[in-house]
Amino acid sequence: MHAEVIAIGDEITSGQLLDTNTQWLSERLEELGIRVLYHTAAGDELDAIAGVFRLAIERADVIVATGGLGPTADDLTREAIAAAAGRRLVIDPQALQHVRAIFQRRNRPMPAKNEVQALLPEGARVIDNPNGTAPGIAITIPRGAAECHLFSLPGVPAEMREMWFGSVAGQLRSAGAGRRTVRHRKIRCFGAGESQIETMLPDLVRRGRVPRVGINASKSTIVLRITAEAASAEECRAAIEPTAETIRQSLGSLVFGEGDDELQNAVGRLLSQQQRTLATAEWGTGGTIAQWLSEAPEAAEHYLGGVVLSSGRAAAAMLGLPDKAASDNSPASEPAAAALATACRERFGADYGLAIGPFPPFDPGAAAPNAFWIALAGPQSVATRSHAYAAHPAILNVYCAKLALNFVRLELQAGGARR
Ligand code: ATP
Ligand code: MG
Repeated sequence: MHAEVIAIGDEITSGQLLDTNTQWLSERLEELGIRVLYHTAAGDELDAIAGVFRLAIERADVIVATGGLGPTADDLTREAIAAAAGRRLVIDPQALQHVRAIFQRRNRPMPAKNEVQALLPEGARVIDNPNGTAPGIAITIPRGAAECHLFSLPGVPAEMREMWFGSVAGQLRSAGAGRRTVRHRKIRCFGAGESQIETMLPDLVRRGRVPRVGINASKSTIVLRITAEAASAEECRAAIEPTAETIRQSLGSLVFGEGDDELQNAVGRLLSQQQRTLATAEWGTGGTIAQWLSEAPEAAEHYLGGVVLSSGRAAAAMLGLPDKAASDNSPASEPAAAALATACRERFGADYGLAIGPFPPFDPGAAAPNAFWIALAGPQSVATRSHAYAAHPAILNVYCAKLALNFVRLELQAGGARR
């Protein structure tokens, strides 16, 4: 079964409102094993909405639409469905009773306008909307030997969700959906580009492979998404596991977690396993690392705190570094980062002190790449690394913070040589 999700309203097409209904419904449809092939949106124009429905009826087995079911002149969905399906609009007694009852419950007279909400295309069924006035519309439209199952729900997200669980999901199951279960597993990597990772996984990211593997990059984190379809969740898990294992084997330490894991969760886990503490000094990332580590539940007991610096004076005041240290070493140097990390470790009384930066002034015309230093001071020694910062300015901060956390992760994984 293939589905199309339709969002209706000027608010959506004009860009005023982000269409979260479509995202939510697509996830629910996928959970039922129904693949969503199309997302469409139409503004509040009868011809536009009817045209979208006409096309969807031709190309999708399941249509779920939201919005435009209210009583006002710009709510045109019911008329558009009637036009697209070639049905008349008739007053549905059950729907009329529902709308009346809602107004009675609110102790208000029902405006005549609201009667339109009881109009349904001939042959359609009402979808109950227990907490709103606009009842939804369900209609099955024959299409050759098959049929198209169309559901129209109000735009208000809470009502839409309630009606999905209250009726639409059940009706789709009766129509044959949900016999197949779909499950996803996300494996998260850091430290290599998307295309590099793809070449390390020959054959996996291939169209038509079972289970399917997709690859996505978000702010330098690469996510491999394995999708399996089977009779049960258990069978899906069994189908996914060998592929997950192949990925872990092929990518080795590039893999840092699964699901919604972030690098700070991985670092937090390692610190807690090894019973070690960490403190940070950020000169360039503005506290991003401190914020992430403070938010990661895994790191709660092991992250002692951090300082945000943007001058040699602050480094002297906060970490007791001699002003000289900043002036003797060019600010963006290995010794400067190492001195920061060591001072941070000592000041906080932590097992590890992580320092990032300072960043050199960004110079797009520089002959050599713009580089900054990361240092991790441990009980025995200080590990350092430099990175070119060639990322887009919009993600530079996040990228550098991730590089630093990844450095800590790899150092901790390397297993305590420096403990
Ligand atoms: P009502 O009877 O409340 O008018 P309706 O079916 O006519 O219901 P709309 O008027 O299209 O729905 O939308 C009502 C509200 O629901 C919008 O103002 C908006 O806040 C929210 N909404 C509508 N469509 C979406 C969408 N696709 N994603 C997220 N929110 C939406
Ligand atoms: Mg409305």
